[in-house]
Amino acid sequence: MYFKMLMKIVIATRNRKKVEEFRRILDGTCVAIQTLEDFPDCPEVDEDRDTFEGNAIKKAVAVSEYTGMAAVSDDSGIEVYALDGAPGVKSARYAGDGASDRSNLDKLLAEMKGLPQADRGGRFVCVLALAFPGGRVETFEGIVEGDVSEGPVGKGGFGYDPVFRPKGFDRTFGEMNAAEKDALSHRRIALDKMSRYLKSGVV
Ligand code: IMP
Repeated sequence: MYFKMLMKIVIATRNRKKVEEFRRILDGTCVAIQTLEDFPDCPEVDEDRDTFEGNAIKKAVAVSEYTGMAAVSDDSGIEVYALDGAPGVKSARYAGDGASDRSNLDKLLAEMKGLPQADRGGRFVCVLALAFPGGRVETFEGIVEGDVSEGPVGKGGFGYDPVFRPKGFDRTFGEMNAAEKDALSHRRIALDKMSRYLKSGVV
């Protein structure tokens, strides 16, 4: 008889848009997810590291220790080559602590004002950290290259999606539907790596 082994993992983020993407992409895999809504008193983690990997590990370890479960965190952002990789790890607070998606995006467009299309290249980066009770941690990276449009286009997705055009496409993530973005995204690439790792039977 065939048993499909489901592994329960708590997603260490309060970003609902990220949680939606995790749910869609992990649907039908060996991963069953719980969210921090199941653990309302779980303390916030200060994202004070200077790499995606450092922040992702810090968040996943803290949530795994609090819940006693395996926890996966996502630290992600957009890096623009002409800005030496900014906003990078500061993507969520580029326009200041507590900034809205819109003000972060407006600041990015202002910093890039006047740059010709050839100099508007950048990438989305996602680092997932998977922490297990007992202290073991694995990380998985996903990158999608593209460029930044001169103004926001489309209402889909979140964050910088309305200004990011993945390489080979003339539409932004904001103009794509969820399935189109999920097929290409940095989060998808990282989650596929994590699913392959879990399926390989090492856990
Ligand atoms: P953090 O990982 O919670 O520190 O924040 C990531 C920030 O990067 C988000 O607030 C978004 O602004 C941006 N970001 C990460 N992934 C995406 C994405 O898939 N689309 C658009 N923006 C993203």
